[in-house]
Amino acid sequence: MQYRDARNGEKLSVLGYGCMRFSRKGGAVDIDKTEKEIMEAYNSGINYYDTAYIYPGSEAALGEILERNGIRDKVYIATKLPHFKVSSRKGIDKVFAEELSRLRTDHVDFYLMHHLSDIAQWDRLKDMGILDWIEEKKADGSIRNIGFSYHGNSDMFVKILNDYDWDFCQVQYNYLDENTQAGVIGVKAAAEKGIPVIIMEPLRGGKLANMLPEAARKVVAQNKRGWTPAQWGLRWLYNQKEVTVVLSGMNSMEMVKENVQTASDALPGHFTEEDHALIARIKAEFMAHEKVGCTGCRYCMPCPRGVDIPGIFRAWNMMYSESKFDGWRYYFQAVALTQEPSHAKMCIECGKCEKHCPQEIPIREMLKKADKDIRPFPINAVISVGRRVMMRSAAKKKNS
Ligand code: SF4
Ligand code: SF4
Repeated sequence: MQYRDARNGEKLSVLGYGCMRFSRKGGAVDIDKTEKEIMEAYNSGINYYDTAYIYPGSEAALGEILERNGIRDKVYIATKLPHFKVSSRKGIDKVFAEELSRLRTDHVDFYLMHHLSDIAQWDRLKDMGILDWIEEKKADGSIRNIGFSYHGNSDMFVKILNDYDWDFCQVQYNYLDENTQAGVIGVKAAAEKGIPVIIMEPLRGGKLANMLPEAARKVVAQNKRGWTPAQWGLRWLYNQKEVTVVLSGMNSMEMVKENVQTASDALPGHFTEEDHALIARIKAEFMAHEKVGCTGCRYCMPCPRGVDIPGIFRAWNMMYSESKFDGWRYYFQAVALTQEPSHAKMCIECGKCEKHCPQEIPIREMLKKADKDIRPFPINAVISVGRRVMMRSAAKKKNS
């Protein structure tokens, strides 16, 4: 196992155990099977275990397994505050106490604000007194490192990153998301601040492991490296020195062994030109099903009206290259349900963006098409309701 440095002296295994996908039996975590997999991981040098309050049964199962095997103090636990479930400092205390109890520990090594996608969510936590709360928990040793997990676009990521002296961050990052979510811009910005970057969804929920387009599968199978699609995905990440830990939601012995093997010899900078070319080929196969040839380079940004051009195109493309659900989910997170909306209807057709697009995309025309496709009536109705709820809770907060 290789280890990379965290901010406060910890040496983190480059492969982290994602505890969201533990095997289940009869509706509960299959504790015996999970224990064997975790112990295989532990004995192979994995020392970072990522769970969350909202992963059903996960914190309790992890706590039980670590205690049973007497290894709590030999590993780092990462868990998360579900900001969307709390509305007061009392609520934060209650969740945190429950987490410690489930995990059978008196401290959390890495604690994250779970699933931020907008600075408004962080501001809301600050209004509840989270800054003092963090100081107290760090002072009494019950939290060692504070960070956030993020789903949104790179501009918003950088805003949140710069708003607090974070110890670490966690982002969705893989070769398909190089220019979406926090993206390579976010990963580099965090690394420049000297904080560890934890990677989630390295294989896009398994898509890059077992759902490659047919032509891409053939290219991978014929390559002399002999790596599996999953290994290509992980190695693309390990090749980047800015990446600290790659989380993998492992739930079989084979998965643990294969990932450990990859993590043991994939060093930063180990990719050759040919390797990069192969990843480009796979991406091209995904893009062959896309609606617009946007690479997410962001040269067209910022739009004076606040339209998130690459975000809208990304969501539209995802609807066709991945699934409608994935596209809409991304659209809700990054465009529609942020504090400041950034949808295509806000475009005043000034044309400024088109002058900067290296792909020569007729952005104005494509935005109209994308908007029509992404926001048919039922989706638009869901967005309107979502925004009304958001505004009502913001107004309530202002008046309280
Ligand atoms: S044409 Fe529309 S999207 Fe492009 S910069 Fe102008 S307002 Fe923004
Ligand atoms: S400049 Fe063109 S390719 Fe780049 S993000 Fe904007 S629309 Fe996409």
